Amino acid sequence: MPPVIHWFRRDLRIADNTALHHAASEGMPVIPVYVLSNWIHSHHWTGANRQYFLCGSLTSLANNLETLSGRLIVRAGEAVEELRKLVEQTGAAAIHFNRDPDPFGKATEARLAVLCAKLGIACHGYDDVALHNPAAVLTQTGNPYKVYTPYSRNWLFIEKPAPLPKPKSLSTPPGISSLPLPSVSHWELDTPIAELSEPGERAARTRMDRAVSEIISGYSARRDLPAENGTSRLSQDLRLGLISIRTLYRKVTEARASASPSAQTSIDIYIKELAWREFYFAILNHFPHVLDHEFNPNWVGLPWYEPGEKFELWKNGRTGFPIVDAGMRQLLATGFMHNRLRMITAMFLTKDLHIDWKLGESHFMQHLTDGEIASNNGGWQWSAGTGADAAPYFRIQNPWSQTAKHDPDGKYIKRWIPELAKVDPKRFQAPPDNNRPLADGYPLPCLDHKTERDRTLAIFKNHRAK
Ligand SMILES: Cc1cc2nc3c(=O)[nH]c(=O)nc-3n(C[C@H](O)[C@H](O)[C@H](O)COP(=O)(O)OP(=O)(O)OC[C@H]3O[C@@H](n4cnc5c(N)ncnc54)[C@H](O)[C@@H]3O)c2cc1C
Repeated sequence: MPPVIHWFRRDLRIADNTALHHAASEGMPVIPVYVLSNWIHSHHWTGANRQYFLCGSLTSLANNLETLSGRLIVRAGEAVEELRKLVEQTGAAAIHFNRDPDPFGKATEARLAVLCAKLGIACHGYDDVALHNPAAVLTQTGNPYKVYTPYSRNWLFIEKPAPLPKPKSLSTPPGISSLPLPSVSHWELDTPIAELSEPGERAARTRMDRAVSEIISGYSARRDLPAENGTSRLSQDLRLGLISIRTLYRKVTEARASASPSAQTSIDIYIKELAWREFYFAILNHFPHVLDHEFNPNWVGLPWYEPGEKFELWKNGRTGFPIVDAGMRQLLATGFMHNRLRMITAMFLTKDLHIDWKLGESHFMQHLTDGEIASNNGGWQWSAGTGADAAPYFRIQNPWSQTAKHDPDGKYIKRWIPELAKVDPKRFQAPPDNNRPLADGYPLPCLDHKTERDRTLAIFKNHRAK
């Protein structure tokens, strides 16, 4: 019997994996393969954190596949060329894979389809990364949504797919050559210094079960308080497919069924966050130009400032705005940043420093373990006021009042900025009096928020007038 190939990409799990399920259902031996990318542009778009998390997750995947009599084959290079070699070496009759939502991934899939047609083998792509294919959520006139709220209303209404069973056996044929499991040095990256979440499917399932039993019922009250563990912390697991979105959704709705009315309201808000993820997949799918340009054409060509010394202060958490610096330091220390802080720091870069959102987008992609092209681009354009949805340019968050609202006791700030441990948290909520530093070694604010806010309004207005 000729074998079939399952090409692992961003679906590094054996449970509820659409393409793996179908590959195994063919009743033929399955060759699971992962192709390490060359990622020519990798140093702008990824970094040690995510690649390290990927390596750990591949090790876990290889172990899990063994429990199904499978063996992970690792290759490196251009994916289609490596798959061609694997087909020729093994006589495989088909390739199964889950589709990627990103333009780079889609271009690879198009080349793979051409290759399979040439080789005369079957090529099966499946939807897996989201609950709904972007083309399944359209306006009544069949057009893509450009605004989140009506999108999410329609998204919520459409029936969700059920989880799929784990394959019983893969029976990978022996003797297929494989590279060793990779380490970050494969991409010439150093081992990360950030404290990352534990990689792998099992650790991710544990996080998912914890989030469902302990977090989502109190989500609405705690999700905007970064000092609390009030969010699910599943973004890196969804990013690499260590958990399935169908399984997560099923568990969340089951928890909702037996929850109190107030917990149900919370869980509904959580589900709407999952819809944001799919909204941004849809935006990237229908409007791929957002990777290079502003979604809103009014704002293409805005006169951003040159990123100088202040960009470095922002990256290193040294702007003198405690809430901004705490967020940037959390990112450097953990490869994660709380959502509220992503908004505050992104608005600070674009609306206070007037630096191009694309530079911030790339910095985040280099550090975030959950770096997701669609959500990151969407979040950055939303914050810059250039994106889909109703976050117009004149919505400019004030870092001082954001602190009073979301970190009133300064717990989050003190956690990430040890120099400020003994400072009265009220002092984090307004510019320092008489230009007196908050603590030795902590800088004064690098700008005046009100002045820069007015400047932003003028920049946007002038640009529109042109
Ligand atoms: C500037 C900026 C950049 C961002 N970059 C990324 C990124 O690279 N990768 C990423 O996964 N998310 C990104 N987000 C969205 C959001 O900040 C993270 O998904 C969230 O902080 C992850 O933590 P969590 O898993 O605890 O989220 P929870 O609050 O528990 O939410 C559950 C899940 O819903 C999804 N989600 C929640 N909020 C959003 C949102 N606003 N947009 C899209 N999906 C959402 C995520 O998959 C998340 O894991 C970004 C937001 C902003 C403002």
